[in-house]
This record gives sequence, C-alpha cells and structure tokens, in this order.
Amino acid sequence: MRFSKFLLKTQKEQPADVDSTAMSYMVRSGMIKKQSAGLFHYMPYFNMIMRRVEYNLRRAMEEADCNEVKFPLLVSKEILDKSGRWTAFGKEMFKLFDRNNAEYAISPTNEEYATLIAGSYIRSYNDLPFSIYQIQKKYRDEIRPRDGVVRAREFTMKDAYSFHADVPDLERYYKIMGDVYTKFFTKLGIKTVPVIADGGAMGGLYCHEYMAIGDEGEAEIAFCDHCHYGANLETVEIKDTYKEDMRFKGRYKEVITPDTKRIVDLVKMLQREPKDFVKSMVYNIGGKLYMILVRGDREVNETKLAKLLKCSEIELATEKEIKSIGSVMGYVGPLGDLKNVRVIADYEIKAMTNFIVGANKQNVHYIDVNNADFKCEWADLRFATDEDVCPVCGGKLKIAKGNELGHIFALGTRYTDKFKTTYVDSTGEEQILQMGCYGIGLERTVASIIDQHHDEKGLCLPASVAPFLVDVIIIDNKKQNQVDVAEKLYVTLEDKGIPVLLDDRDVRAGAKFNDFELIGVPIRVTVGRSLENGEVEIEVRKTGEKLTTKVDDVYKVVNKLAKSL
Ligand SMILES: [Zn+2]
Repeated sequence: MRFSKFLLKTQKEQPADVDSTAMSYMVRSGMIKKQSAGLFHYMPYFNMIMRRVEYNLRRAMEEADCNEVKFPLLVSKEILDKSGRWTAFGKEMFKLFDRNNAEYAISPTNEEYATLIAGSYIRSYNDLPFSIYQIQKKYRDEIRPRDGVVRAREFTMKDAYSFHADVPDLERYYKIMGDVYTKFFTKLGIKTVPVIADGGAMGGLYCHEYMAIGDEGEAEIAFCDHCHYGANLETVEIKDTYKEDMRFKGRYKEVITPDTKRIVDLVKMLQREPKDFVKSMVYNIGGKLYMILVRGDREVNETKLAKLLKCSEIELATEKEIKSIGSVMGYVGPLGDLKNVRVIADYEIKAMTNFIVGANKQNVHYIDVNNADFKCEWADLRFATDEDVCPVCGGKLKIAKGNELGHIFALGTRYTDKFKTTYVDSTGEEQILQMGCYGIGLERTVASIIDQHHDEKGLCLPASVAPFLVDVIIIDNKKQNQVDVAEKLYVTLEDKGIPVLLDDRDVRAGAKFNDFELIGVPIRVTVGRSLENGEVEIEVRKTGEKLTTKVDDVYKVVNKLAKSL
C-alpha cells in the first residue's frame, strides 16, 4: 500500500471525547471515527487489523474442527419465544416489525438458530460431535455505551456452537475450545486469564470468561500463575487461616466521638489507622436483620453475603431498623444487648486485638475491644487482595483489572430441550443433545491488543495482527535514487509475501517517523543518506533496536527480525 493513496488520517492531539487509552489510540491512528454514542465508522487501517484477527481466528476454529456458517441477522419472535429469550434479553435486544406486523429481533446471539441447524443435520451418534461458528455483526441496545468500541451498540462477534452425545463429550470439547482460545489470544499478543463466571441470561451448567488484563478493565479479577486458577474478584474464597485471639477481655473503654459517623472522621479524631477499626454494617436480608463485621479498611462483599445467606435481596438497614436492634445509626457495634440481629464477622477479625467499634450510643465508640468481648458467628465476607493466597494451590494471588474478550458456556440441554433436538444413540434410543457455546468479541479484542501493546508514542502492533510488517520511508522525495530504491524494495518485499506500507508522501521526514510510531508498524526501513554507501537503516518499533544493512540484504534481515515479533 502506498501511503499517498491510503485513507489514513492520523492526529497528533489527544481526542477530547474518549474514555479509554485504547480508544484514544484508535482515533489518533485513524482507525475509527465516532458517529454517535456506541456507533462507529471503521476506517481502512482498523479493517485491515480486523482481517488479520479474523484470519487467526478462522485458523483457531479449524483447529477445533469447527465449521463456518452464517445465520440470518433477523430472528422471529416465535423462535425467541420458544427459548424464552424474547423476554429474558429485555431491552438490550433491538426489535422491529416487518410489513405484515410480524415481530423480529436483530439477533443478540444465535443459540436458537444453531440448535435448529443442528437438529436438521444431526441424525445419529455418527454425526457427533457437531460444531459450527460464524463471524457476524451483533447488536445490543446498551443503556450507556462507553469505552469506545468495547461497549458499543454494534459489534462483531465470533459465536460457535457445539453439540454432543453426552456431558463427558461436551466437557472434553469445552476444554479443547478453552485451549484454542488461550492459544489464539496468545498468538495475538494478548495476555488473558480464564475466570469462572456467572451465566446470566444464557443459563447452562457452567461458564468461563476470558479476561484480557488491562489497567482500564471493566472487571476486577484474581488469578494465580502457579495453578492457572482465575475468578472474578468478588467470588474468590478466602480460607479461614486465622486463630481467634481470646487473651483479652473487658479492657474496652468509652470515648466520646461527636460527628464521626464515617470512618475517615473517626480515624482523624482518634489518630489511628482504618485497619484498627471494625466496621459494623446492619443489613436487611430477606426481611431479617444482620450485623456484618469487617476490618475498617475492607468492604463487605455482598456477593459472598448473598451466597452465605442464600438470599439475593440485600439492603442496608434503615435508621428505624437499626434503632430496633438497640443501636444508633453511625455508631453500630457488636457489644452490649442487641435484639433480633445475627452478628456475623469476617474471619480476619479473629486476628485483631484492641480495636475500635461503635458503642450503640450516639457519639460514642469503644476502644481496646477484643474478640472475647462479644459473641458472633464467623464467615468469609470480604474481597481478596494480593496479600491473600490462591484458594486452590496456596500460591501468590494476583489481582488485576480485566476486559471480557470471550465467554464460553457449557449449556447442557438448556436449548436442545426447548427445541426437542435429539439424536439416535448406538442402541437406537432417541436422546437430547448436549450443547456448548463459545463467543469472542472482535472489536474489543483489537482494543485489548492496543491496550497491551503501546507506548507514549503510539502503537507497537504484534506482527501477527499488523497490516504491514514494514514501513518503507523515503527521507527526501526529491532525491530520485531514494525514490527508486524505495520503490524497488516495496515491489521485492511484497513479491516475497511481506506486506509493506511505502511512505511516498511528499511531507517532512519527521512526520513520516511520527506516523510510523503512532500506527505501530513493527519494522521501519529508511531510505536516506546512507544510500551513498548502498545501505538503508532499519528500526524495530517495539524495542527501538536500530541497524544498517545493504539494500540487497533487506529481505533477509526483515525476515529474521519478524520471527521475534
Ligand atoms: Zn493457584
């Protein structure tokens, strides 16, 4: 591609209305143009990267013996009613009417169609396993589209569906697909962590999300490099390794603490650390009152609380309810005569001594409180931190932010039951098929590549996704010998299968260098002054490594460098 003919307009300045680093680089490197909230124009450079991503993805699907299909974008209400998803998807699904007033949705995902196709192709166990995928646009009516292309209203998704004779075969294939995912993301240069997740509207047996690590990620995740454990932070179990300290009793005394309903005010007044306090929160859970205790610098993990009490309706208690247990809002604590409330403390409090709690009286706290001073039940009620250990192997736990790129589901018979999709087994009996589904969002995958591969000057694209491996820069367009050599390199490298961007624009050399850095071509070949010695300069974008080489050796050198990119 000649830069002079390439529809690529870069911009130096930071764009104003972007909400993430990846988005900022996408705008600056001329990849996308925002139309309105959640809708984008995708420009040539972006589309070229997408084609590289899709190429790698198709190879990955082939490795999982998955066949490419394409379903209609429109799905009738009738079909979505059958699976129950017409209502389950709610307002996120775009709906429309045809001229006969029949209702349709623009498909959010295609479990229904995949099940129908499976039903029409699978007769017996000989046809199994059966696996299909498509790469197709999807539409979602997001309440608040944000993070640029990460949460857009229109996006490209690879959705695959597999069908199996029984659960063990589904599980075998689910694992293969998981391995293929990890390999695919690694090939694109993205570090991902598979985490156990919640199925949401999809339903099914279990599922995993593939989270790309990124500072601006939408979810907090915990993982262990030692045993490959991964989970959403709120679900990470913290084992009870604490020993209750019962040495001290009755040491506590009252301190008058006016206007200190918040821990920050109290910390200031008593000149102590937040971790010297025990936070006592009163909740109304399913109509019953609970006092939940966590260390002052922790938050109550409501996901764990809901699971412990087997109830999803969790609300903070009202002032009146707090009064009813014999306490005062802002000064709640576990000591004294409390009525109609179950006190549950986080395990960590077992190891605390001489701490501070509310005294259940207006403007009063107790200091030097100890475990022997009150009664409670114990549970795991906080969020894990990087000081905690992996619940599986006991190794060091890492905490990071992540963006969901892929989601795989062992669905079981959730859809095949509804559509009566069966096969005939080896004994001639009819059986319901087991099903799995496997998605990857492609624009957000590109965003994660950018997230993980940039520096202050711009992108450093991995060779596996870079549209051009080499940027050939002509320093001075007025010097005919530079133009001739650059043109010759362009043709020779392209002939040998190396994609080249020939920067033949009549602009300052500095502008060409800046664009090379901003759009992140892996290798730069500069045709300039050293041509007098029959040499050109080569630079590797990622490492900044520079070398000079004879014009005739450029292919050899580039080819060797590319292997490490
Ligand atoms: Zn581990």
